[in-house]
Amino acid sequence: MNVHESEKIAGILQSRGYTECCEAEYADMIVLNTCCVRETAETKIYGHLGRIKSKKKRDAILAVCGCMTQQPGAAEKLAKRCPFVDIIIGTFNLSLLGDYVDEFIHTGVKVIDVRRSENDVNTDGTVRNIARSSGINAWVNIMYGCDNFCTYCIVPYVRGRERCRSVDDITTDVDSLLKSGYKQITLLGQNVNSYKYKDVNFVGLLKKLETDKKYRLKFMTSHPKDVSPELAEVMADSKVLSKYIHLPVQSGSDRILQAMNRNYTRNEYFGKIDSFRRVMPDIGLSSDVMVGFPTETEDDFRQTLDLIERVKYNNLFMFIYSRRSGTPADKMPQLEYSVKQRRIDTLIKNQFEISKEISKNTVGRVCEVLVSDKKDGKCYGKTESDAAVTFTSDSIGVGDFANIKITSAKNANLSGEVV
Ligand code: SAH
Ligand code: SF4
Repeated sequence: MNVHESEKIAGILQSRGYTECCEAEYADMIVLNTCCVRETAETKIYGHLGRIKSKKKRDAILAVCGCMTQQPGAAEKLAKRCPFVDIIIGTFNLSLLGDYVDEFIHTGVKVIDVRRSENDVNTDGTVRNIARSSGINAWVNIMYGCDNFCTYCIVPYVRGRERCRSVDDITTDVDSLLKSGYKQITLLGQNVNSYKYKDVNFVGLLKKLETDKKYRLKFMTSHPKDVSPELAEVMADSKVLSKYIHLPVQSGSDRILQAMNRNYTRNEYFGKIDSFRRVMPDIGLSSDVMVGFPTETEDDFRQTLDLIERVKYNNLFMFIYSRRSGTPADKMPQLEYSVKQRRIDTLIKNQFEISKEISKNTVGRVCEVLVSDKKDGKCYGKTESDAAVTFTSDSIGVGDFANIKITSAKNANLSGEVV
C-alpha cells in the first residue's frame, strides 16, 4: 500500500517536471513517505531525516508524507525536532503536494497540512498521474481508511473512516492499465471485503473486472470476518482471479482474538479456510500473525503455533506487537520484550519448516508462472500463490504466462522447466 502511495507521490512530482534521481545528495527535492503501523518504522524516520540533512544540497526541498504525520501532535513534533523539513503533508490531502511544492518555492514559507477530510471519497484518489514503478504489476486502490478498530491498530485513526471509490473509477483504471500492458492488477484496501458502492459489493466488483483478456487479478487485504463463501465460488469460477488469498489471522487464541476486537473465533477462521479449500484445493494462502499482544500467555501463543501448523500458509508475515499511542491495547498490561522476542523466534523457525515442506511438495507439479524479469535467457517470475520460480527459455519473455514444471526447491525458491 505504501509503495503504491510512493508511486502517487512520484507521479505528482513528475507532472510538475521533476524526474527521479538516484542519490539524495544530487536531488533538488527529497520526499520521505512514512508509516506508523509499528514503532520500528516510525523511529527509523528520525534516523533517516538526520542522515538526509547532512547529505542533501543546502537548498533542496525536503517533504515528509504518510500516516506518521497524521497522528495527533506528530506534525508539530516533527516540525520542532526537524526544522529543516519544508513540507509536512498527511494522508488525506496528498493530491495537493504539487501545489504545496510550488507554494514553498514561491514564498519560502513552510507548509503543514494534516487536515482530515473524511467525507471526500476521492482524497488521494484524485491523483491522476501515478508513476508506476513495478514492471508488470500495478496497484489500484478501491477504498481508503478502515472502520474496524482492532484494538492494537492505529490505521483507523490515521487514515480515517472507510471510503469506497466508485465502480466506474475503478473499472476505468483497470481497463486503462490492461491496455497499457500490465499483466497483474492488485486491488488495494484495508478491508476489501467490505467494499460497497451503491448496490455493488466486493464480489460484484470482482465480477465486473472479469474479461477474456489474460491477466492476473489479486486483492488485499481481506478481513476474515467479512469473507463470504460467495467470494470463494467467484474465485474458483474466475478466469482472471489468482487462486490465492491473504487472510490475516493475527492470533490462534480465541481469548486474544476477542481482546483484539477481531470478531471471529479460531473455529470460524478454520471454517473460512475450509470453504476456500473445498472449491480450490490448491489455493495459496498467506497471513499476518502477531506475537506478544498484551496478556498473551504461553498457552495463547501455543494456539497460534497450532493454528499455523494446521493451516500451512505458503507465506506468513510475522510481527512483534508494538504499542501504538491512542489505541485501546496500549492501555492493557504489557509483556516483557524478551518474551515477545522468544515467541517471534519460535514462530519464524516453525513457519520456515512449513514453507520448506510446501516448497518441497511443489516439486513435480505444473504451475502457471507470470514472468516479471529476464536476464541472459533466465526467466524470473511468480506462481499464483506468490512463490518465486526461475527457469530458462529463449522464447518466453517479461509479461508472458508460462506453464512450468517445478523440478527443484531450495527453501522458498523454486526452479523449473517449460512444459
Ligand atoms: N487491514 C489489514 C492490514 C493492516 S496493517 C488487516 O486487517 O489485516 C498490516 C499488519 O500489521 C496487520 O495485519 C497486523 O498484523 C500488523 N500490525 C498492525 N498493528 C500492529 C501493531 N500495533 N503491532 C504489530 N503489528 C501490527
Ligand atoms: Fe487495522 Fe484491523 Fe483495520 Fe486492519 S482491519 S487496518 S488491522 S483496524
